[in-house]
Amino acid sequence: QSLTDDVDPSAAAMPLPHSDERRWSDTSAYARKKILQSWVQLPNGNWELGKILSTSGEESVISLPEGKVMKVISETLVPANPDILDGVDDLMQLSYLNEPSVLYNLNYRYNQDMIYTKAGPVLVAVNPFKEVPLYGNRYIEAYRKKSNESPHVYAIADTAIREMIRDEVNQSIIISGESGAGKTETAKIAMQYLAALGGGSGIEYEILKTNPILEAFGNAKTLRNDNSSRFGKLIEIHFSESGKISGAQVQTFLLEKSRVVQCAEGERSYHIFYQLCAGASPALREKLNLTSAHEYKYLGQSNCYSINGVDDAELFHSVKEALDIVHVSKEDQESVFAMLAAVLWLGNVSFTVIDNENHVEPVADESLSTVAKLIGCNINELKLSLSKRNMRVGKDTIVQKLTLPQAIDARDALAKSVYSCLFDWLVEQINESLAVGKRRTGRSISILDIYGFESFDKNSFEQFCINYANERLQQHFNRHLFKLEQEEYIQDGIDWTRVDFEDNQDCLSLFEKKPLGLLSLLDEESTFPNGTDLTLANKLKQHLHSNSCFKGDREKLFTVVHYAGEVTYDTTGFLEKNRDLLHLDSIQLLSSCSCHLPRAFASSMLIQSEKPVVGPLYKAGGADSQRLSVATKFKGQLFQLMQRLGNTTPHFIRCIKPNNVQSPGLYEQGLVLQQLRCCGVLEVVRISRSGFPTRVSHQKFARRYGFLLVENIADKDPLSVSVAILHQFNILPEMYQVGYTKLFFRTGQIGVLEDTRNRT
Ligand code: ATP
Ligand code: MG
Repeated sequence: QSLTDDVDPSAAAMPLPHSDERRWSDTSAYARKKILQSWVQLPNGNWELGKILSTSGEESVISLPEGKVMKVISETLVPANPDILDGVDDLMQLSYLNEPSVLYNLNYRYNQDMIYTKAGPVLVAVNPFKEVPLYGNRYIEAYRKKSNESPHVYAIADTAIREMIRDEVNQSIIISGESGAGKTETAKIAMQYLAALGGGSGIEYEILKTNPILEAFGNAKTLRNDNSSRFGKLIEIHFSESGKISGAQVQTFLLEKSRVVQCAEGERSYHIFYQLCAGASPALREKLNLTSAHEYKYLGQSNCYSINGVDDAELFHSVKEALDIVHVSKEDQESVFAMLAAVLWLGNVSFTVIDNENHVEPVADESLSTVAKLIGCNINELKLSLSKRNMRVGKDTIVQKLTLPQAIDARDALAKSVYSCLFDWLVEQINESLAVGKRRTGRSISILDIYGFESFDKNSFEQFCINYANERLQQHFNRHLFKLEQEEYIQDGIDWTRVDFEDNQDCLSLFEKKPLGLLSLLDEESTFPNGTDLTLANKLKQHLHSNSCFKGDREKLFTVVHYAGEVTYDTTGFLEKNRDLLHLDSIQLLSSCSCHLPRAFASSMLIQSEKPVVGPLYKAGGADSQRLSVATKFKGQLFQLMQRLGNTTPHFIRCIKPNNVQSPGLYEQGLVLQQLRCCGVLEVVRISRSGFPTRVSHQKFARRYGFLLVENIADKDPLSVSVAILHQFNILPEMYQVGYTKLFFRTGQIGVLEDTRNRT
């Protein structure tokens, strides 16, 4: 949106702040070339660099590479940067900041395996889809010593550590991007750096080992990514006062549990199922009555069992090793595998009609008996819980027999709950193991790896939640980078031309407003026994039609105008997914088991339902467990997350996927551009460049650099000391401004002082 302005050549030449004029004075020889080189948009939408041969009236003649000559309307041309700026490592350095120039710069670097580029304060990472020689001890050492200053995740992690120590403020590294853009890999690279610098106690090794576990249980092959995280993750790494890692804590968000019982053609369920089937020892196979992945209905429906270049059996061993390292005992590991096998066998349970009203009961075959054995329950009770439902009506309990679809639902709900409880239980074990220094005195760095904005042909409840989360994060990003900055300038009496930025508060209000917002209306409809996906859609349209971020659509569809674009949602399945009912019968069944895991799951489900209820209760028929709706619970988690992040200094990394085929060397302009627009990268550069992004209070500045003064005026007030420092170091007047309480600097200015300080 903001950059469409730049497509007009006159607007594209951004007014250069003083600093830039100076910075570019030695490139004035290129001034003529600047005008001669220009971006031309081809009919396929891609931009190509052309030389202007002549201009007459409103038309220009341009020559393109390969000898093509084209006549174009001059106004559609977008100025290109001089060659000397090819591949600059910060987009802020571009003289012409327009979409094709940014695309070209990223592409230029990408072709040379320079996948990282700064966009002012934000790091942009373009997924190489191949191994690039940028990691490992040699690089870590170089960033630690600052002998390598090119943009890198390591550099971000390094800054986070330094600022945590220097400012005594917790830090966060917020990684976003589409599925397959490289968030999880980036998070691991950041962790690697933190572990290398803060390591020593051995706990860092455990922290790194949480990755293979969480990936095995929470990642799956999708059409977009062979190793797609189906949950959001925040890992908070704790440091002692001396800057050493003392422990960590993992929080997960919204695991996609539907994948356990259902996944699309060509995708897989969670990796761990295939790993278990491929890698279990003969003894374990026998104990769990395990067969091959092909024998299990839950795994068979998508027609995809393996991933190119991935050895599931080998990975199974790495997962077991990782579980050892985070202190999950062998017995517990075996219980975990038993739960996995139970879920798989549950999917094979079939039903048979028992009366002329189409009621069914499970067939008493190998599947049913194996499930009973694995979870440690009586086979008859299992049978009952999958064929009947106890309903409380007033004071009486009536027993309802299930039809085939109801029985399948009950079976799948049980499988999903067991799996998601297992996932949560593992996270709990990991946290117990990582909570070494229980007394938290030091500071922390949190790394957030959370699903990016999603817009598909068909968007369901999952996209609804994910995109809501992204609106929140985007607001955090906006507020941090733009609003706070701008407010601070104004507050401090700094002369700064106001820059308008888009706030997405309207869209967030559409979601969160009570009682007439998307989430409230969804919850309300979820409590009505007769509510359907269609009544929900109608209710939304009835109450929200006048909201500028909402558009009604035909039947079960509605559209939300998100910051990143419009998304049309289909309410099919919304109510069921939001209610996420598990019948009390199933909970009772689990609590009666002889194995400890199912019992633990049952009690955690009960605790969940007993939590002080903020949202509405689900009392349909009175027999179902009373739980928070999924959306309400997610909203609560999100608020808590934002609160935690709100107390940190954030560092943003935006991951970009250069193509949709997970292939190295392929850079699709349109795809990249759309992602750059979605994550606000271009807007950031524009705003940061025109401002004074570095701010230090007079006191702090005087305290930190005062000793460098030749003339001893240390007893003077902080402002006078600060000004003396600025003069002594010849910081140019256009490079800073003095506010009421703080000094404001253009990018890079503090570096000189820091270097001198570190040398003395
Ligand atoms: P999702 O939202 O689906 O979880 P994601 O953003 O977490 O996606 P990743 O799983 O991190 O994406 O990355 C997808 C794939 O891209 C990786 O499996 C890896 O093959 C490749 N990749 C990403 N980053 C890098 C990198 N820095 N170097 C080499 N390969 C990478
Ligand atoms: Mg991921």
